[in-house]
Amino acid sequence: MYDRVQAHLTQELAGIKEAGLYKNERVITSPQGAEIKVNTGAEVLNFCANNYLGLSNNPKLIDAAKQALDTHGYGLSSVRFICGTMDLHKELEAKIAEFFGTEDTILYAACFDANGGVFEPLLGEEDAIISDSLNHASIIDGVRLCKAVRYRYNNSDMADLEEQLKAAQAQRFRLIVTDGVFSMDGNVAKMDQIYALAQKYDAMIMVDECHSAGVVGATGRGVTELHNIRGKVEIITGTLGKAFGGAIGGFTTGKKEIISMLRQRSRPYLFSNSIPPMVAAAGIKMFDMMSETNELQDKLHENTAYFSQKMAEAGFDCKPTQSAIVAVMLYDAKLSQEMAARLLDEGIYVIGFYYPVVAKGLARIRVQVSAAHTREHLDKCIAAFTKVGKELGVLKSGSDCGCGCGCN
Ligand SMILES: *Cc1c(COP(=O)(O)O)cnc(C)c1O
Repeated sequence: MYDRVQAHLTQELAGIKEAGLYKNERVITSPQGAEIKVNTGAEVLNFCANNYLGLSNNPKLIDAAKQALDTHGYGLSSVRFICGTMDLHKELEAKIAEFFGTEDTILYAACFDANGGVFEPLLGEEDAIISDSLNHASIIDGVRLCKAVRYRYNNSDMADLEEQLKAAQAQRFRLIVTDGVFSMDGNVAKMDQIYALAQKYDAMIMVDECHSAGVVGATGRGVTELHNIRGKVEIITGTLGKAFGGAIGGFTTGKKEIISMLRQRSRPYLFSNSIPPMVAAAGIKMFDMMSETNELQDKLHENTAYFSQKMAEAGFDCKPTQSAIVAVMLYDAKLSQEMAARLLDEGIYVIGFYYPVVAKGLARIRVQVSAAHTREHLDKCIAAFTKVGKELGVLKSGSDCGCGCGCN
């Protein structure tokens, strides 16, 4: 049997390569950070990690993890409801709820699991899920596992959301689902308007804060802080794998009855291992650090504003950003790959995205700014972009932008 499967897979893989969609993984040999080493020996500046607050290699978090190895051991060898719950897990869940101003929290191995396990226990075929068209793959998969009637609205299109809400009035319960920050454009969900529509059409809200938690809002409390609806959203999901240290772990936080039901019925929680104690301990330390100071958020916001402004002045066509993601628009897929390759030669690690990750004809390089970047790092990145951009003829003529494109 495997002969035929092998022939089939070999052909499929060749097809992926021919289409230029084959993903090659670069191998890093240093800790994650602003400056990294790759296995070719090259040292590059990293502008494509989700390490928004620069915590992936933070000495305090490493210390907290090491200490927990001594006090709580290496692993749990159990799911939470059998013998996998430690004091550290309960403490971390409480810290997350405090951070978001919610009632209770449930931990998962990853946010992919949090999203995969949130819908099916709460909603049935008499209910409706109204989902943004650009929501993350894990939300799409989670929705598929649930019997609720599905409605989809165009990305951040509030008129369309309203239409879908009207169409969903016959259902028992309605849940609007959105990413907090859309990771390809860097735009923030219009939570204030979504909240108003949810009130008007009697719906609950779930927001996935993976790219917004720690980043968006004056103190990094995410989109509910930015839009002044803290504590008013029923469900928030998020990850410990991005701004919050970058190791592993996901969570759902929100109304206490919802969290209680997830502990009873959410399959990725019930049937998958507890996060390691060292990860929980480092998470606790991380939230303690967040409550002491906004230094990292301030630095990140300053870095992002500086980077977008300088890139616009250099003549790049950047999407207006409300997060730490700056999409440098190139439109042409091949150009995005060529530009990313040349930038790597200049010591700048970024990735070009094109169809099907983004719409056809909207290829881009996504730059992810971090609080770990120094002004020197940013200047080096901007200089490299400008050099390569000139060579490839992608800069707007006249440069000093002033085009009102909203880059800054
Ligand atoms: C990264 C991401 C996830 C997955 O998070 P993990 O903890 O890595 O599984 C889910 N949703 C969104 C919007 C993300 O960006």
